[in-house]
Amino acid sequence: MKEENIRPAKLMERVDVLQVEDRKKLLKKKKGFIKIACPACQSKKHKTLFKKDGFIFVSCESCETVFVNPRPSFFMLAEYYEKAKSWKYWNDKIFPASENSRRNQIFAPRAKKVSALCDAYKAKKEILVDVGAGFGTFCEEIKNLGVFKEVIAVEPSRSLAETCCEKGIKVIVKPIEKANIKKASVITNFELIEHLFWPKDFLLGCARNLSRGGLIIITTPNIKGFDLLTLGKFSENISAPNHLNYFNIDSLGYLLKQCGFKIIESLTPGKLDSELVRKKIINGSFNVSINSFLKYILIDTWDKNGDSFQKFLENNNLSSHMWIVAKKL
Ligand SMILES: [Zn+2]
Repeated sequence: MKEENIRPAKLMERVDVLQVEDRKKLLKKKKGFIKIACPACQSKKHKTLFKKDGFIFVSCESCETVFVNPRPSFFMLAEYYEKAKSWKYWNDKIFPASENSRRNQIFAPRAKKVSALCDAYKAKKEILVDVGAGFGTFCEEIKNLGVFKEVIAVEPSRSLAETCCEKGIKVIVKPIEKANIKKASVITNFELIEHLFWPKDFLLGCARNLSRGGLIIITTPNIKGFDLLTLGKFSENISAPNHLNYFNIDSLGYLLKQCGFKIIESLTPGKLDSELVRKKIINGSFNVSINSFLKYILIDTWDKNGDSFQKFLENNNLSSHMWIVAKKL
């Protein structure tokens, strides 16, 4: 997988400019931001890690989840996603321009992986619900595999829901917390939970809409993965207000248990960690001069060791991109 194909640099430059404007607008309402307890374990003890772009990132002293605190309220975020120019640009330009690459490199393999997980854990194959379906590409791919009798997209954004509709996908235009499906066999959500004001309500909403024994499959950044731990605030992924919650495998597992799930598999099949850190070293935005080992692997011997180093991260749950599979009890 190459980053350029899924996030073309030229388009990303424009989105960065729009993002700065959107952020400025939101930060004008900073007085209305809300202080929260840890979104994973609800502990109120946390320490400030760093500030970035006007937002404060803290780390829970109990479970080491990293989260933005204080944060825009639920309603501020809903308005932000509806009106932000940067999101409109993603939806109008970046997603369409990169859809083929995303389909081949991300969504088709993702659909196969979901299908394999459902086989491995003997999930029923009546209804799959993809929450935060976005452009609908995953729903198309999983539909094409013919594994499930019905595929439903849950997408609260009206314009994205329309795109799903045009692709012939059944869509519920509201958040899962307000949906009334109740008997889903499998619920998937990809790169979504990190955006939410209060993930616990979201997971309770998922639990309510799943059949007993149904599976939830989640992907999200792993804050204890290689590129996030190495780059910290210098990672592009550390980006508020889009991303507010950075779980680790244990902390997300803990939250899922609280919401009535049993964890059955946790893995980090990320492909981009080493490439992301390497790029930062090459463009001079991350100083590696005091870390000879990283320089040796990611620069000096990249052609020989790059792939196997990434494979090592993947195989040892050390990548910053994680999957968690859990069963509703
Ligand atoms: Zn915590």
